[in-house]
Amino acid sequence: MATTMNLDEHLLIGGSWIDATGGARFDVTDPGSGARVGSVPNGTEADVTAAIDAAAAALPGWRSTPAIQRARILRKAADLMRERADLIATTMTSEQGKPLAEAKGEVEYAASFFEWFAGEAERVYGQIAPPMNTNNRVLVLRQPVGVVAAITPWNFPAAMMTRKLGPAMAAGCTSIVKPASATPLTAALVLRCIEDAGAPAGVVNLITSRDAGMVAKTIFSDDRVRKISFTGSTEIGKDLIRASADQVKRLSLELGGHAPYIIFDDADLDEAVDGLIASKFRNAGQTCVCANRVYVQRGVYDEFLKRLVAKVDAFKVGHGLTEGVVIGPMIDGRAVDKTEEHVQDAVAKGAKLASGGQRLTGGEFEGGAFYAPTVLDGVTNEMQIYYEETFGPVAGLTPFDTEDEAIAFANDSIYGLASYFHTKDYARLMRVAERLEYGIVGANAGIISAANAPFGGVKQSGYGREGGSVGIDEYLDVKYVLMGGVGTV
Ligand code: NAP
Repeated sequence: MATTMNLDEHLLIGGSWIDATGGARFDVTDPGSGARVGSVPNGTEADVTAAIDAAAAALPGWRSTPAIQRARILRKAADLMRERADLIATTMTSEQGKPLAEAKGEVEYAASFFEWFAGEAERVYGQIAPPMNTNNRVLVLRQPVGVVAAITPWNFPAAMMTRKLGPAMAAGCTSIVKPASATPLTAALVLRCIEDAGAPAGVVNLITSRDAGMVAKTIFSDDRVRKISFTGSTEIGKDLIRASADQVKRLSLELGGHAPYIIFDDADLDEAVDGLIASKFRNAGQTCVCANRVYVQRGVYDEFLKRLVAKVDAFKVGHGLTEGVVIGPMIDGRAVDKTEEHVQDAVAKGAKLASGGQRLTGGEFEGGAFYAPTVLDGVTNEMQIYYEETFGPVAGLTPFDTEDEAIAFANDSIYGLASYFHTKDYARLMRVAERLEYGIVGANAGIISAANAPFGGVKQSGYGREGGSVGIDEYLDVKYVLMGGVGTV
């Protein structure tokens, strides 16, 4: 199966959908078949500057628009995303690969950020602090940061964008968005919802480009851009930290993860298998919160492995638009190469293949980037997969004996985004949750992402939080006003 889409999109600058300066475009391809899905403009430095001009021009009007009106536009944008869910989801599956049901789930999840932040827009409260001197009053204001830039990855092409644009718009900021070059069409469709919901020209601007380095350089060297929110790899995140130094730009960084998934011997094993599958195999293992190390207590190891393999063996793999498929293609051949490298390295060092373990080629997989869902039995800390993010459909199991050992294994990582464990013992639940060095802990839960919860990592998984009541703080500056000579009451 291949996509039948043919969608040619444009840049959005100052309310106009336009071509790139010079007219160059690039094709977007279907990772499930290699077919062309459509094309977008290859934006230039002049286009990025024009987008910043437009965002800067729109800022005074947008920041002084009453919050309730900004909230109405966000709610309307969420409604439009739901109305257009079939088109957005089909486009997402065609350019990104995830099964259609997952794509529809992402559209709903992405829309929920607009709704959540519509509520937050209406509650950006300041403070009046008790004075140290009775003649003074201390006011604390929370004001929009200004023009912000969002750079987003391909694995959640809608939600990673709305998680940034929702709070930015709610706070009164204007934005430039640079989506991943693999998935720009979904981004354009989401921006059309914002525009059709009534956002004034220039409040959101879209730059598609194959030259991400140029886009970043232009953004970082323009002092009108006050903040950059980035979701992507730790490697690029570190480059952006360095680039931010020159103008001391504010940054939020949602970077790589390498989640531990612990199953204690008192866990509900069926619930734990389902939780791991949801965490590990969603989006063919290409999520930053994916389980990448699975620690199973020795007493239940064999039984857990058996139940897991029975379910993984039954997965239907194929093109994301094919009915019943639960594992789609990976994003491209390089992603398959890395997954294959991790599996081969583990097997060479003694891990056993309990399921999968090979590329899928020929027949219905022809032209696509497919890797079989895989379970490795007996992963050790000598293997690459133990320390590196695989970003593929591979679950590697390691046995452990004690709670202390499991926590030490889990915390032995440079990453600190998501972690998970299963237990029925509520004292242990509290204890383990507190000791895991991660920004997110799923206790008896394999899916942890939600608009109402603060999402983000510690260590080399980045800083800043998206979602929850604190998500809007990333787009607000705190200002304190000292009012002198007021007198005593
Ligand atoms: P990536 O290569 O870092 O790309 C992310 C974005 O950065 C894309 O828009 C990319 O553009 C752009 N980019 C590439 N080079 C750049 C440069 N020199 N300067 C500025 N931007 C640049 O990451 P990815 O492979 O798309 O995404 C996978 C990674 O993202 C994984 O490590 C995953 O864990 C992480 N992730 C984290 C979260 C989270 O919330 N923590 C969520 C999702 C994904 P092009 O596409 O044009 O190259």
